[in-house]
Amino acid sequence: MRVALLLSVFVGLGLASGVRAQSGFGISAGSPEAQSFHVGALELTSLHDAQFVLPNNGKVFGIDAGAAAVADVLRAGGAPTDRITLSVDALLVHDGRRVLLLDTGLGPKAHGGLLSSLMVAGVPPTAVTDVLITHPHLDHIGGLLDADGNLAFPKATIWMSSTAWNWLKGQQDSQALAKAISTHIHTFEPGARIAPGVRSVSLPGHTPGHVGYEIVSGHSRLLDIGDMAHSSIVSLAKPQWKVAFDSDAALASATRQKTLAALAKSHERVFAPHFPFPGVGHIATSGDAFAWMPDVP
Ligand SMILES: [Zn+2]
Repeated sequence: MRVALLLSVFVGLGLASGVRAQSGFGISAGSPEAQSFHVGALELTSLHDAQFVLPNNGKVFGIDAGAAAVADVLRAGGAPTDRITLSVDALLVHDGRRVLLLDTGLGPKAHGGLLSSLMVAGVPPTAVTDVLITHPHLDHIGGLLDADGNLAFPKATIWMSSTAWNWLKGQQDSQALAKAISTHIHTFEPGARIAPGVRSVSLPGHTPGHVGYEIVSGHSRLLDIGDMAHSSIVSLAKPQWKVAFDSDAALASATRQKTLAALAKSHERVFAPHFPFPGVGHIATSGDAFAWMPDVP
């Protein structure tokens, strides 16, 4: 998700980030949480970072449909109709030799609680050998730096698609972060194998070079979809709707519809960083669209 846009939404409403305003909209760290489960022989852990509560004002989700249509979808999903709640989570993969972290949350400077959740999981930051980035928006890369602006995972190689890295280096507000991580960056082309059983998957549209990661062990597999879908209710019920966070909304919508259809068919397990914690489950077909089937381990 594009946090600059999100913050501007909140600022536009006169709401401060990091503080739950009286209305209930904003960004909050929430409590540290770590939920472990297995994919084949691999141990995975979902790590909670933060919570976004956005107003349903037709300016972020369903910008081509309007707030009333979004409210109808939220109501059908059993959710409040005046807001859209998104979790911010990351995924840890332990293969017995390497410790891979998929995305890093907002970072302590922006109220991200990932490091506390990592502590709950019993993993010190220095144990992380590889950080795999789906895309360089702040809610996925902010946690690469600690509260002092130093590398949060000093021993880790940071993997990012070459298109994503070039895009990040061109962002005015990301210069300090790009400089801090530049010596640890290892770029790849989407589709590349990152580690044994871990492959990047091109999921274009949300940002230039946006990827997911597929984890395979034996006959078991899981796809970390990154920001291919944001809301477990709206993005699945109306995958064709435009989302303001997507840099190429038409391409993102096409990717969403195609990928959700494939996941519903394969019944492959999914990790979605913005779905309700721990963000693990399956995609099912529902009428002419899709629904989220949480599979909490
Ligand atoms: Zn995001």
